[in-house]
Amino acid sequence: MYVGRFAPSPTGALHAGSLVAALASWLDARAARGRWLLRIEDVDTPRCVAGADALIVRQLAACGLQADAPPLRQSTRGAAYARALARLAAAGRVYPCSCSRSDIARALRAQGRAPAPGVEWPYPGTCRDGCRRADGARAQRLRLPDDACVRWSDRRLGERCEDVAASVGDFVLRRADGLWAYQLAVVVDDAAQGVTDVVRGEDLATSTARQLLLQRALGLPSPRYLHVALVLDGQSRKLSKSDAAAPLVPGLGALRDACRHLGVQPHGGSIAEQLESAVVQWRELWR
Ligand code: GLU
Repeated sequence: MYVGRFAPSPTGALHAGSLVAALASWLDARAARGRWLLRIEDVDTPRCVAGADALIVRQLAACGLQADAPPLRQSTRGAAYARALARLAAAGRVYPCSCSRSDIARALRAQGRAPAPGVEWPYPGTCRDGCRRADGARAQRLRLPDDACVRWSDRRLGERCEDVAASVGDFVLRRADGLWAYQLAVVVDDAAQGVTDVVRGEDLATSTARQLLLQRALGLPSPRYLHVALVLDGQSRKLSKSDAAAPLVPGLGALRDACRHLGVQPHGGSIAEQLESAVVQWRELWR
């Protein structure tokens, strides 16, 4: 049985880009006659905005998108994440790390790898064989396997291959401030919700190899992945909630724009008719 999901972070209202991700995951689930679930990704509590979760649910409903079960909230899932971390630790796959960003930048420079601004820096492995500082807050990192090259097949992007050791290195599972990392939370929750198909924006394709590695390390099944094209602003940048992007007015107009972006022809009728026609077209495009 197909299970899909939309997993917004409640850091603000939906925008045109997040509506596209929501619609694509909904269409794929409906085209497969499967279930569509909602997950509120509120692990990064300092970035969450009060009331944004309820607003997102209302905006989705105004576009005719209703989940088949009450949303799962990551803020309630700490015990499950702790169990997963303990399992990885028992297998020797976790180590503590006290490096600050400037420690990491210094270590990368010492290795002749200039840390680039604006991109995630690969962790140079400084604490792999023992944490420098015994005191103070420490993050928990995943010890990558010797071969961290991950191959996977994306339904839109095709065959992908990523050497996670080179691109990100041993990555954080739990931050020094105690917050759970997105990568761990997503993998644990996709499995707990029985998700068979992840449909989301292409910006998250760079997280997929890490998530596949974590699924393997935890003995969890891997879903299929479909990363859809991002909605870009006038400067070819991804729309994000932090931009002064025009606020989304949820409803038929926004739904038709999102359909067009996904290569689905808008339909003249009501929201229900638009969605019905979109499901038929989606099935032809992707299933
Ligand atoms: N919460 C993530 C975001 O809003 C999406 C996570 C996912 O779909 O895997 O960007």
